[in-house]
Amino acid sequence: MHQGTMKAWLESSHLYGSNATYIEEMYEAYQEDPQSVSEDWKTVFDNLPSVNGEAFGTPEVAHSKVRDYFRSLALESRGGTAARAADPELDAKQVKVLQLINAHRFRGHQNANLDPLELWKREAVAELNPAFHGLTAEDMSSEFNTGSFAFGGETMKLSDLVNALKTTYCGSIGAEYMHITDTDEKRWIQQRIEPSLGNGNYGKDVQTRILEGLNAAEGMEKYLGAKFPGAKRFSLEGGDSLVPMLREIIYRAGESSTKEVVIGMAHRGRLNVLVNVLGKRPGELFDEFAGKHAANGGSGDVKYHQGFSSDFETPAGLVHLALAFNPSHLEIVNPVVMGSVRARQDRRGCKDGSQVLPITIHGDSAIAGQGVVQETFNMSQTHGFKVGGSIRVVVNNQVGFTTSKQEDTRSTEYCTDIAKMVQAPIFHVNADDPEAVAFVAQLAVDYRNEFKRDVVIDLVCYRRHGHNEADEPSATQPLMYAKIKKHPTPRKIYADKLIAEQVIASDEAVAMVNGYRDGLDAGECVVKEWRQMEKYAVDWSPYLNRMWEEDYASTIDADKLKQLADRVALIPEGHVVQSRVAKIYKDRVAMANGEKLLDWGMAENLAYATILDDQKRVRITGQDSGRGTFFHRHAVLHEQKTASTFMPLRNLEGEQGPIDITDSVLSEASVLAFEYGYATAEPSGLTIWEAQFGDFANCAQVVIDQFLSSGEQKWGRLCGLTMLLPHGYEGQGPEHSSARLERFLQLCANHNMQVCVPSTPAQVYHMLRRQVVRPMRRPLVVMSPKSLLRHPLAVSSMDELANGTFQNVISEIDELDAKKVDRVVLCSGKVYYDLVDKRRKENIENVAIVRIEQLYPFPHEEMAKALADYQHVTDFVWCQEEPQNQGAWYCSQHHFRTAIPAGADLTYAGREASAAPACGYADLHMRQQEALIKDALNLGKAE
Ligand code: AMP
Repeated sequence: MHQGTMKAWLESSHLYGSNATYIEEMYEAYQEDPQSVSEDWKTVFDNLPSVNGEAFGTPEVAHSKVRDYFRSLALESRGGTAARAADPELDAKQVKVLQLINAHRFRGHQNANLDPLELWKREAVAELNPAFHGLTAEDMSSEFNTGSFAFGGETMKLSDLVNALKTTYCGSIGAEYMHITDTDEKRWIQQRIEPSLGNGNYGKDVQTRILEGLNAAEGMEKYLGAKFPGAKRFSLEGGDSLVPMLREIIYRAGESSTKEVVIGMAHRGRLNVLVNVLGKRPGELFDEFAGKHAANGGSGDVKYHQGFSSDFETPAGLVHLALAFNPSHLEIVNPVVMGSVRARQDRRGCKDGSQVLPITIHGDSAIAGQGVVQETFNMSQTHGFKVGGSIRVVVNNQVGFTTSKQEDTRSTEYCTDIAKMVQAPIFHVNADDPEAVAFVAQLAVDYRNEFKRDVVIDLVCYRRHGHNEADEPSATQPLMYAKIKKHPTPRKIYADKLIAEQVIASDEAVAMVNGYRDGLDAGECVVKEWRQMEKYAVDWSPYLNRMWEEDYASTIDADKLKQLADRVALIPEGHVVQSRVAKIYKDRVAMANGEKLLDWGMAENLAYATILDDQKRVRITGQDSGRGTFFHRHAVLHEQKTASTFMPLRNLEGEQGPIDITDSVLSEASVLAFEYGYATAEPSGLTIWEAQFGDFANCAQVVIDQFLSSGEQKWGRLCGLTMLLPHGYEGQGPEHSSARLERFLQLCANHNMQVCVPSTPAQVYHMLRRQVVRPMRRPLVVMSPKSLLRHPLAVSSMDELANGTFQNVISEIDELDAKKVDRVVLCSGKVYYDLVDKRRKENIENVAIVRIEQLYPFPHEEMAKALADYQHVTDFVWCQEEPQNQGAWYCSQHHFRTAIPAGADLTYAGREASAAPACGYADLHMRQQEALIKDALNLGKAE
């Protein structure tokens, strides 16, 4: 407001005469929260001029100056005469009223009626009491300005205002959002909850829909309880509103053009969601309870880990639903869901995320206790991982297995406090009030779509039975369960309410219960909106039942490769790169021109280029994936003056596939899980996760164990994710040497994944291409090199790339006379170069060296070929850099033994067994390395 306008406004205001105390208090309230004052006053304060260079609005400016300023304005406007005196007491009260409104917005949730069992012991928040603000019983009948409170008119009787505040902020919904700094967001939320006092004012159609949801939730659990007494089903009972809530979310999402919803949830209520939301046939579930299962060759999984896919008809169109498969590790499915959602959004070209909605459902103890929740929140707005916001629902049954005391489960007031790190609004809601639940469900969808950010619904409920149905919860929670036993079910409470309000007749409610039970008896789908999936967004059939040995087209036209090499080596005019990078690119130009053999970085970039040229997608994430931890990749070029970036791989000639290379957040578990989710939803391209050092994958072990290595067997879900794990013994100490090869090999069975140790640029090129060109989609675990990236012997020709293929085994390459060979050393990875170097230096002619480039699935046929000339040899050695209890020795030894001639010996040359993966002293490392090389080449031990 400019000064003249401000004066005019002051003159017309009932505050004309500018009561100093009032303005000062108003100003204080404004400083605490600009929205606590009316829009007019906010504009005045927002536009205060500066005093001595300091903006008025800053706390540094003395309030007296503000007061004086207004006084002078008033005097001026009255032509210098004294201002009209206002009623100072009334004006002071007005400020208190605004503070009372503000207190409800900030802290109303702390006294909201959230716990259906009424067991929560919460102290009364003094600021929510009008008396705290000096507002008396007499004031209750006075009219006050309601500031920005969005209910009613500009003024209201204080008693009405207090009632409205209590209903909005201290009823069944505890809206926690004032921690958000963005004013628009806060205003938006106020505009959504205040005008209706947090009430959806639903008509009969929605009310019936809600009751149907509760009816289904309860009916299903009771049915299962009666039919399979004592069987574990992780009943939803107590949190029954989850079912109508999810259905409302889907309806609302459908209205806002969402095409897919991906859900992640743990056990609690999962069977219920499967049957009553996703539309799994109850008959199929009953068969699973009865121990029947389809003979699909996999191990299968328990029923409460199963995922499901279906289509759901909403009035606005079909919404595809996918419930992600889930292991028992709570919360780790969250980043998997986000990755799956991102893949679907990328496929649809949906940049703002609106077409695919993620919903994650958490337990109250798990959301507070599990670190991956924080990791996933941290990813939520980052460019490589954002999905346009997610809806996070907490089934807050106030107990984690047998741990229920707040001081045992968390150090925060709410289990949802972690969400404040991304300033997500949190709607706590009493699950016994399903209309309030529906209201926040719709609000959450709208908020997510409006602001593209995470939003949390804390569904405060209880757990009618124990952790599972075989448990006796009274043993550990006697008071809570005494209360639960007497507490009516959510369906009963709501049905009684609708009957009392004459929305439905009591016989209708009974008919609903019976109708649902009949539906279960029939065993057919009970979700009326369920539709058979017409077509999958992705056709997985080309990838099903494929074998790793299948032939694939590995060669590429040499001219085409040269053309791609030129583009990969191209720095655009004027894009000045750092001098070391410039040298690397200069070398790449020479490599493209055939003047230099290709190094690792060039071959790897060329692999991506060929995949992209084939219109396929490439996605690489890792902590330093643009540059490469070891300065070899340089797929993203940083201009030195402007810091702008250029990606040669995005600028190939002609049509090409999309590529994203993202330097990830500093997390392994959530990023690997995200990429697993991505790759399980997008089979066509190459998805890579790269660890900074191989052992960083330790922090993501749950993803490796529970998803990557076993997901296909348990759930029939294919995943072609590639993991690049830098590995190699180079004296860098215990933590940066080993990618723990042994752990991956130990997980190998049923051809579940591939473990490769490529040793040349051509090998990494073909290995990456094979992962896309060959239709099999299984994880590829790569022990990728560090020093080999620049090793003078680790080079390849363009011809090897154009006309070669991935060699699972590389036979002896020196021209040895096979007949003279009396020892064959088998090895993988970097140690090969140490061996061959020493052998050449020592002119040894009787020891052949064979590299096994794929340790699993073990390449028996290629090994047979590689060893064909050495059938007379009886002395075979496995040489490795890792200590004896690590590396491939124990896990792959049986394969080596079957590969060597019958009767031949297989001995070990490597480091001694060790608790640490590697030693920390460079000189000891050198001595150990020398000893194992000498040992392998039969040169005796180093002294
Ligand atoms: P979704 O879009 O995840 O609901 O998947 C739809 C259908 O595609 C599923 O019912 C499966 O038949 C198939 N499908 C999805 N993901 C995979 C996968 N990773 N591996 C094999 N089949 C899949």
